[in-house]
Amino acid sequence: MTLKTERTRVRRIPERGHYDKEIIYPIIDEALYCHVGFNHNGSPVVIPTIHARTNGTLYIHGSAASRLLKSIPGENNICVTITLVDGIVLARSAFHHSLNYRSVVIFGKGEIVEDPQEKWNALKAVSDHLVPNRWDDVREPNQKELDATTVISISLEEASAKIRSGPPGDDDADYALPIWAGVLTTELKKGTLIPDPVLPDSIGIPDYLKKGSL
Ligand SMILES: Cc1cc2nc3c(=O)[nH]c(=O)nc-3n(C[C@H](O)[C@H](O)[C@H](O)COP(=O)(O)OP(=O)(O)OC[C@H]3O[C@@H](n4cnc5c(N)ncnc54)[C@H](O)[C@@H]3O)c2cc1C
Repeated sequence: MTLKTERTRVRRIPERGHYDKEIIYPIIDEALYCHVGFNHNGSPVVIPTIHARTNGTLYIHGSAASRLLKSIPGENNICVTITLVDGIVLARSAFHHSLNYRSVVIFGKGEIVEDPQEKWNALKAVSDHLVPNRWDDVREPNQKELDATTVISISLEEASAKIRSGPPGDDDADYALPIWAGVLTTELKKGTLIPDPVLPDSIGIPDYLKKGSL
């Protein structure tokens, strides 16, 4: 299914544009957070926040008191951007330096999730998105915490991915220059587990947090 619309059609280097959910969804799922752009009192604001995707819906959550969560419900025109940087492209000229990346731009309407079961599932999805199985291990949210949390859904109907990969694209004449060129890869990875200093020694690391499980 294509998520291409006139708004999401990549015009600048269109061959880097993709509109199939098979390409867009994995980028959304790999990123730990997104940036949400919205209009606040006539001024553009872009806020980073955690997200999760369930089928064709993107969820974001936060304090019911936050400007982000108060501003976007019912807002027809929010824009969510997701970026994964895969490398620094080192060209022979300063001009052709670049990044290798996979990014997604989503346009949509933010709607408050009122249904308690959908809200619960969305919060679990956000938790699972960061660390699978964590939700089942920890204390569940109580009613006070649920009431203090707003969950927003954005239907994934209008989106684009843009992907740059591969070596630098230098000008023909520059390939003869004696300058190292190529790609310095970058990656997002989970690192070292640092126990809370007040954690009792008797509490071991659960399997789902052990190396190779994350
Ligand atoms: C990490 C990173 C670094 C970048 N650095 C630069 C830079 O230094 N300079 C630069 O000019 N560009 C850079 N880009 C590309 C940039 O995101 C834009 O694609 C580009 O600037 C063209 O913008 P535009 O609004 O003219 O695009 P248009 O092609 O006119 O945009 C039309 C539509 O295409 C889609 N689209 C555009 N860009 C993206 C995208 N990145 N991901 C998903 N959908 C997209 C959107 O739906 C947008 O509404 C970078 C991208 C990434 C991910």
